[in-house]
Amino acid sequence: MKSADIRRSFLDFFIRHGHVEVPSSPLVPGNDPTLLFTNSGMVQFKEVFLGREKRPYTRAVSSQRCVRAGGKHNDLENVGYTARHHTFFEMLGNFSFGDYFKREAIAYAWEFLTETIEIPVDRLWVTVYETDDDAYAIWVNEIGVAPERVLRIGDKPGGSSDNFWQMGDTGPCGPCTEIFYDHGPEVAGGPPGSPDEDGDRYIEIWNLVFMQYDRDSSGNLTPLPHPSVDTGMGLERLAAVLQGVHSNYEIDLFRDLIHAAAEIVGTKDLDSASLKVIADHIRSIAFLITDGVMPGNEGRGYVLRRVIRRAARHGHKLGCDEAFLYRLIPALVSAMGEAYPELAEGQENLERVLRKEEMKFLETLEKGVRILEEDLGRLQGSTIPGETIFLLYDTYGFPVDLTGDIARERGLELDLEGFERAMQEQRDRARAASHFTMDTAQAPGMDVATEFTGYERLEDEGRVVALFRDHE
Ligand code: ATP
Ligand code: MG
Ligand code: MG
Ligand code: MG
Repeated sequence: MKSADIRRSFLDFFIRHGHVEVPSSPLVPGNDPTLLFTNSGMVQFKEVFLGREKRPYTRAVSSQRCVRAGGKHNDLENVGYTARHHTFFEMLGNFSFGDYFKREAIAYAWEFLTETIEIPVDRLWVTVYETDDDAYAIWVNEIGVAPERVLRIGDKPGGSSDNFWQMGDTGPCGPCTEIFYDHGPEVAGGPPGSPDEDGDRYIEIWNLVFMQYDRDSSGNLTPLPHPSVDTGMGLERLAAVLQGVHSNYEIDLFRDLIHAAAEIVGTKDLDSASLKVIADHIRSIAFLITDGVMPGNEGRGYVLRRVIRRAARHGHKLGCDEAFLYRLIPALVSAMGEAYPELAEGQENLERVLRKEEMKFLETLEKGVRILEEDLGRLQGSTIPGETIFLLYDTYGFPVDLTGDIARERGLELDLEGFERAMQEQRDRARAASHFTMDTAQAPGMDVATEFTGYERLEDEGRVVALFRDHE
């Protein structure tokens, strides 16, 4: 089954069950300044869940384009390292606004998976929120899933099996039940909740959220006017299951993109992680520009710039020393233009913006890489010094996560405190020179400023993540 057919069969299933098909909303949420990008299907329905907006329907179904490359849900650092994470992906979802609740939501999901697209029951596992006895009872007593396949999972902030879903720090949220697919013993990884759950054997395919609360900025939960349902299933993960491949990067759509990228960049190594990163990033880049984001130094524009520079660096790593990303757009348009006509409509502008941004970075990329190589040649120990990170950032336009990406490839760490100090010294110098304060500069027309809040070391994974916090 091709990705396009899977998308259609999902939409049709829920239309048959009384849902109205609602088109994907853009990646820049029009209704929510607290959110960097649309990161799930529910975003365009946020006000409906909160009871502040009425629609002429109480059941909806959509295939929503999503980006998780910044803000609360950020998978940028996962791309190229897991089989299942993209910065851009499509989320299939059905929604109930005060209409059906847990029982029907679970029954629909099970019917679609096991009857409509015929996934064998013995491949499926389920998790529920640890205190959600209702959901547990529905799975075990009504659907008939073996009790040892229904796992109770508690809160684990940031963990991959957190069964309390929230869009952001505030807004609609609630307990959820998730459906996992077992890719089989050839793949490393344990069932959800086990110590090696982050492996790629048991992959979460569908999350059913029982929207019951609105979280305010001090963390208080207020019950929503009507308990509702919000579900999300990654189209690419489902395609991997149905196409009998383990990695999302082996599905039809990614195979086409990876082939096109290999040809343009001039490599024969189709398994290269860099090609996966490029194939992933080109989708985020193309859809962000199509949805009106321009590469820039702040907020959404800076996230886009980081993604472009990261992708460009991976091309460079494969030996390509000219602008190439924009040449991938035709392949993307032929893979996705039918489902997203706006992509084809804006193709010319898209290629122009991207080419320009690539050319700009190419002027310094080569030199920056050389400086870094020289520095690494002299390196004692396993930490890239703060001054180097700062020089690359300030003079050569290397976003810190790009240097982090290179560091990770070589098992090195970044001295982020040293980088922060160098940043601070520069700020002090700038402040002394004029009264312009960099921190409060905000791009005109932006409703979100991204405040640089430093870096976080994820102890468990030994990697470094740049933190950008959105604020109203
Ligand atoms: P994971 O635990 O694997 O990171 P998640 O719990 O963060 O996924 P949800 O927020 O529940 O994901 O999103 C709903 C569904 O969207 C997931 O079940 C998955 O199928 C899909 N999905 C989430 N993040 C990604 C991603 N980065 N790339 C591709 N699909 C994704
Ligand atoms: Mg999860
Ligand atoms: Mg996640
Ligand atoms: Mg989930």
